[in-house]
Amino acid sequence: MEGPQISIVAPLYNESESFPHLVSRLNALMDSSDLTIEVVLVDDGSRDTTPVMMQQLALTDERYHCVFLSRNYGHQTALSAGLASARATEAVMVIDGDLQDPPELLSEFYKHYQEGYDVVYAVRRQRKEGWLKRMAYHTFYRILRSISYIDIPLDSGDFSLISRRALDVLNRMPEESRYIRGMRTWIGFRQIGIPYERSGRVAGSPKYSFKMLWRLAYNGIFNFSEAPISFITRLGVFAISVAVIYLIATIIKRFVYGHVPEGFTALLFIIIWFSGVQLVALGIIGEYVLRIFFQVKGRPLFVIKDEIINGQYTASSRD
Ligand code: UDP
Ligand code: MG
Repeated sequence: MEGPQISIVAPLYNESESFPHLVSRLNALMDSSDLTIEVVLVDDGSRDTTPVMMQQLALTDERYHCVFLSRNYGHQTALSAGLASARATEAVMVIDGDLQDPPELLSEFYKHYQEGYDVVYAVRRQRKEGWLKRMAYHTFYRILRSISYIDIPLDSGDFSLISRRALDVLNRMPEESRYIRGMRTWIGFRQIGIPYERSGRVAGSPKYSFKMLWRLAYNGIFNFSEAPISFITRLGVFAISVAVIYLIATIIKRFVYGHVPEGFTALLFIIIWFSGVQLVALGIIGEYVLRIFFQVKGRPLFVIKDEIINGQYTASSRD
């Protein structure tokens, strides 16, 4: 048989503190499981000792397949690199490198896979983050769901099991700014959500900055919703209606009272107001144009610098 049954994919960025915990949990899982498993670790251009630790591990333990990206690309792209490198014949499981997603759920996920599900995703019952972040996530997922043209499940991140055929589809989707949990929903097939408790980080600090979270949210909205554009149209129609009503009212006033216009304030207000509306409209259109701009360049999503498979560097590696 070619390749392992399961690939467990984890992107890592400066995770030297959680790395030993990750490896011991994964080792325990692989030792106790009847499935043949490879672990695909992706180094997302870490600046700490993560790549060195990965290298040592992959050269001594053939179950570990390590991919080293040429720089930091961000979580979603690093994950895409891992998904593209996975050799599993049956399914891949996606986890975070900080053990917030318990890899032990593999057996439960796999049960559903055997029942015929192509995507088994985890739904967070509880979060261990602060209330502000929790509230932000909660609100965001609900807004996205209400305006998106696909039914992206609430409170589910990237933690999931994806069948080989679903993965092949995902790998063939060339889009630039990736929102993988949305793409995973878009694929279709049979999908099921499993509730779980999301634990805290095992060690180290969060690698997602506020700016990166914001961008992720942005990608979710602009890649999976036309709501911002249709909002502009509605705003424009509303603005024109208001202007027409105002005009008619003024004309009537002219004939009834004989004199107009004091309304200099109103004029000024309207000019400023609608300049604002136009700027918002341009910004929203710009957001979609920007996406087209990045997409048409057709650059590869990521560049792999080195790769260690079966305890050996692949031919293209130089280190
Ligand atoms: N990560 C990555 N590249 C980045 C930022 C994060 O590969 O540029 C990885 C990180 O190492 C971790 C996962 O993505 O394995 C989730 O990151 P983090 O725990 O910081 O996110 P949070 O759990 O706070 O959403
Ligand atoms: Mg985390």
